[in-house]
Amino acid sequence: MQVQAAVMLQPGQIEIREFEKPTPADDALLLQVDSVGICGSDKHMYLGHTALKFPVIPGHEVVGTVAEIGKNANQVMNVMGGPIKAGDRVTVVPGSKNCGRCYYCLHVPGRPTLCSGRTIYGFSNSETPPYLNGEFAEYTYIHGNSWVYKMPESVPDEIRVLTEPVAVATRAVERACAPGLPQIGDGYSIGSRVAVLGCGPIGLLVVAVLRDSGAGTIIATDLIDSRLEMAKQMGANVVINVGDTTPEERVEQIQELTNGVGVDIAIECAGLPAVFSEALDVVRRGGKVIEVGHYTDSGDTQVRPHQICNKDLDVCGVWAYPQIQFQTALDYLQITRAPLHELITHHLPLHQLEKGIDMLGQEGVYKVVIEPQL
Ligand SMILES: [Zn+2]
Ligand SMILES: [Zn+2]
Repeated sequence: MQVQAAVMLQPGQIEIREFEKPTPADDALLLQVDSVGICGSDKHMYLGHTALKFPVIPGHEVVGTVAEIGKNANQVMNVMGGPIKAGDRVTVVPGSKNCGRCYYCLHVPGRPTLCSGRTIYGFSNSETPPYLNGEFAEYTYIHGNSWVYKMPESVPDEIRVLTEPVAVATRAVERACAPGLPQIGDGYSIGSRVAVLGCGPIGLLVVAVLRDSGAGTIIATDLIDSRLEMAKQMGANVVINVGDTTPEERVEQIQELTNGVGVDIAIECAGLPAVFSEALDVVRRGGKVIEVGHYTDSGDTQVRPHQICNKDLDVCGVWAYPQIQFQTALDYLQITRAPLHELITHHLPLHQLEKGIDMLGQEGVYKVVIEPQL
């Protein structure tokens, strides 16, 4: 039997190709792909912003059904909520297990995304068997070095495909937490006032996570009014349209909302360099700035290092999330009161992947989901 997969031959060129349906090795499994979200990073890849060894089968936000499973897979993989068997619904962490041997594994084991020996579904070369290394495909091959989570029954069906982006959003918020003494105002805690700059899917999920985790005033900014409306639905208290205001007016407005000092936490979710410098402007002294939007390099911006020094700031990056973050994401999807289903706006068959990539960023488009079984 042949399996159809969307292969990116080079940036801007996607073809549906057929591959022999593989039989999984003893430690692996074959996953039938039921739904897979299109990510902003897929669009960046399509536009040539990501240095990769093409051809690549993109797609890394998967929910699927175990089609066939090797006899040792449950022992060899990190299977969470298992054991798993054929017919089970699962989601798979894009990043593999860590190598355990590289500089970062040995020196910074608490930051597993720095491992230089990881492989990542949806970003790996697909020229060698079993080829199916990404999830925009009818079936995908899950290797023995993977993290696989059995999908809890209590996660509503329609939002299961948000597991991976929710892992990003929960990790961004957790980066704002400071160990130690939250009552003296370090880091994010209950009642903290937060600015979320940029309301694409990640920014909106960050707003939802903040609301559910007890934030105080949440201020959201974006250029598009409908996105700001959505931010309110996710739990933002105040929204500011960046197109209708100057940077100075925004700083002033945010100070008025925060006893004249600025927000405790500013989270950059726009992926635009100038928004990072705006985060430095709107955060209060002793606050934290979280940079999650720049998964790809979109150039530079002017910053005044004096601000970081004078405000005694903590500036934190977010490079994806530890594999165990999927547990946080799945737990969150079971308890959230935010209307996350509103974020899934389009469902398309596999052969319309390019159309879906084009749609990202348009007004009224949040998460576009590919359903290869359609
Ligand atoms: Zn993603
Ligand atoms: Zn490593």
